[in-house]
Amino acid sequence: MPTILDGKALAASIRRRIQEEAAKLPRRPGVAVILVGDDPASQLYVTNKIKDCGECGFFSRLIHYPVSVSEEELLGAISKLNDDAAIDGILVQLPLPASFNERRIIESISPAKDVDAFHPLNVGRMVQGDSVLWPCTPRGIGRLLDAYHICVDGKTCVVIGRSEIVGKPMGLLLLQRHGTVIYCHSHTQDLAAMTRLADILIVAAGRPGLITADMVKDGAVVIDVAMNRDPVTGKFTGDVCFDEVKDICSHITPVPGGVGPMTRAMLLENALTLARLHMGLLAFDKTSAALLEEYH
Ligand code: NAP
Repeated sequence: MPTILDGKALAASIRRRIQEEAAKLPRRPGVAVILVGDDPASQLYVTNKIKDCGECGFFSRLIHYPVSVSEEELLGAISKLNDDAAIDGILVQLPLPASFNERRIIESISPAKDVDAFHPLNVGRMVQGDSVLWPCTPRGIGRLLDAYHICVDGKTCVVIGRSEIVGKPMGLLLLQRHGTVIYCHSHTQDLAAMTRLADILIVAAGRPGLITADMVKDGAVVIDVAMNRDPVTGKFTGDVCFDEVKDICSHITPVPGGVGPMTRAMLLENALTLARLHMGLLAFDKTSAALLEEYH
């Protein structure tokens, strides 16, 4: 049997530590969450984020707009939050309804309050390898690898997916840890030939059943990021055929209970980092000092 990478348990211990750290701060870290529209999945994610903040002793503010809200009104609300000293992190729940210019909205968030790490300045610093913030999903996977002493250095890492929020930053994180990184996507010609090279296989395509046992190298570490909701049962499944792949790999994440809880915990960690920066409590490195100077 492979080692099951238990993201649920690890996330719970990280939340406990964050709660302890937050209690030592001169004021509560503050997170603002903006939700537009009534998409049930987005509503659930937002509810969970607010609940997580409460559990860790953070102050949180939910701003819920109807889908009819104007882009200018949304930008105005973000501008006020950028200037609000009680708010350390601002999050706009994505995807926004199609009528919004998502990029414009994200770029209006102060990089020093960009708790999701999606602002181009933070993305640029991440590419340069010196960011204090990382998008939550890759950051959570990095922590999961650390917790199970999985070394990336020198390993062949195959990432399936090249989205801005998961695939691309995931590959960068593995590269920063000295992995040899191969990105795969919907234009990759022979996916199985690529995945069979992987010592570490990260799957984030959103295609249930994509990865079968014959596509996995003996002893590989398999991280299934996907959360596909079964239309019949309503349950979540990943992209990896867990029951067959588990007999081949050395480590594997379950779905649910693997990457998902880690993503949630990393949002809190990013918020704590930003709160410390704003309170002048983080030992400033060059990057974080510059971030504050430029944007405050
Ligand atoms: P996305 O923006 O839809 O990106 C999917 C990526 O997979 C794209 O790069 C796409 O290629 C690639 N792809 C699709 N079909 C493929 C195939 N047959 N072979 C190879 N590559 C293929 O999705 P995302 O936001 O990155 O999310 C990916 C999955 O992770 C979803 O299931 C999502 O629900 C889940 N997710 C989970 C968490 C978590 O915390 N567990 C967090 C975020 C997302 P192209 O670029 O060529 O289109």
